[in-house]
Amino acid sequence: MHQIFPPMKTRAIDSVTELLAHLDLDQNNAPYAILSRPGYPILVPHSYVQRMRKNDWFDPLLLQILPRSEEDIKKPEFQKDAVGDAAALVAPGVLHKYATRVLLLVSSVCAMHCRFCFRRGYPFAKPPATVKEWLPAWQYIEDHGTVDEIILSGGDPFCLEFDYLDELLRRTAEIPHVRIVRIHTRVPVADPVRVSNAVFEALARVAAVKTCIVVIHANHAAELAGKSVSCCLSRLRATGAIILNQSVLLADVNDTVVSQQELLKRLVDNKVMPYYLHQLDRVDGAWHFEVEEGRGRAIINHLRINLPGYAVPRYVREKSGEKSKTPL
Ligand SMILES: *Cc1c(COP(=O)(O)O)cnc(C)c1O
Ligand code: SF4
Repeated sequence: MHQIFPPMKTRAIDSVTELLAHLDLDQNNAPYAILSRPGYPILVPHSYVQRMRKNDWFDPLLLQILPRSEEDIKKPEFQKDAVGDAAALVAPGVLHKYATRVLLLVSSVCAMHCRFCFRRGYPFAKPPATVKEWLPAWQYIEDHGTVDEIILSGGDPFCLEFDYLDELLRRTAEIPHVRIVRIHTRVPVADPVRVSNAVFEALARVAAVKTCIVVIHANHAAELAGKSVSCCLSRLRATGAIILNQSVLLADVNDTVVSQQELLKRLVDNKVMPYYLHQLDRVDGAWHFEVEEGRGRAIINHLRINLPGYAVPRYVREKSGEKSKTPL
C-alpha cells in the first residue's frame, strides 16, 4: 500500500526495447545475448539512463542494469541466499547478524534493479507492510539493549511513501539506547530528484537528536555526473547527516585502478566518504560480475599510493555466520 512512490512508471524504463532505443543501440548488433523478459524485471530511471553514453554496449552504467543471458546460467557456488540472511531473520523485517546493529528490511522496492544485487533472489519473507506489523521489531530492539544502531535498508527506504518512512524514522530515533540511525539508499544516485524536501526535513529531525548516517551506493564516477546528483548530496549533508558510499567491485564496470580512482575522487569532491568496496556476493544469476579477490587486492594496493587513506574504501566480503564483514 505505502510501497510505491507514485510516478514510478513515468520515472523509469521497464523494457529492454525502450532502453536500447534511448541509447541508439540495435539489439541485432549486440556483442552479448540479452534477456528480453528476465525473471527479475528490468527497471532503470530515465535520469540514470541520461548519464549513460549513447551507442556503447559497454557503458559501465548500462552493464549494471541490462539483463544478460548469463543470468540464466546456473553456477553451484552462486546461491539464492548467498549471505545467510534467512538465518539472521529474528523478527519480521529484522536482520540481526552483528552484535551492536540491526538491519531493518523496510521496503522490497528499489528505484532501479541492479543485476548483481544480492537482494534479487529475495528468498525470505516480504518486509512488514504496516506500522502495526513492525511491533515485534520494536519489541525485539527494546529487548536488546546492546543494539545501538539501526540500519534502514531493503530494498530502498527512499522508495517508501513519505509518511510511512517518516513514521519508521521517528519510531527508530525514539528508542533510548539507539545512538545511530543509518539509511542505506541508492536513490540519490539512481534518481536523485526523488529525494523530496519532506525527506530532507525528516532526516534533519533525526540528525538533531541522533547521529544520522546515510550510506549511498555508487559504483562508477559517471553515476555521480550531473547537477541533480551533487545537489541531492549537498542537501543530504545539509541535514546534518554523515554521508558515506558503498560500492561493489564489478567486472567491466569498475575493476580497474583508473575507474576506482575516478569514482573515489568524485565522491570526495562531493564530500562523501568512501566506506566499503564489497566483493560481489555469490548470488544466483550474478556470477558474470565477479572479480577475483587477488585482482581486487591489487587495485586497493594501487589506490593507497595515489589517494589519501580516507579515500580508500575498506575492501570486504560478507561471509555467512561471521560476526562482521571480513576484510580482504
Ligand atoms: C552489512 C550489514 C550490516 C552493517 O555492517 P557494518 O559493518 O556496520 O556496515 C548490518 N547488518 C547486516 C545484516 C549486514 O549485512
Ligand atoms: S537493493 Fe540496492 S543494489 Fe540491490 S537492486 Fe536495489 S538499489 Fe540495486
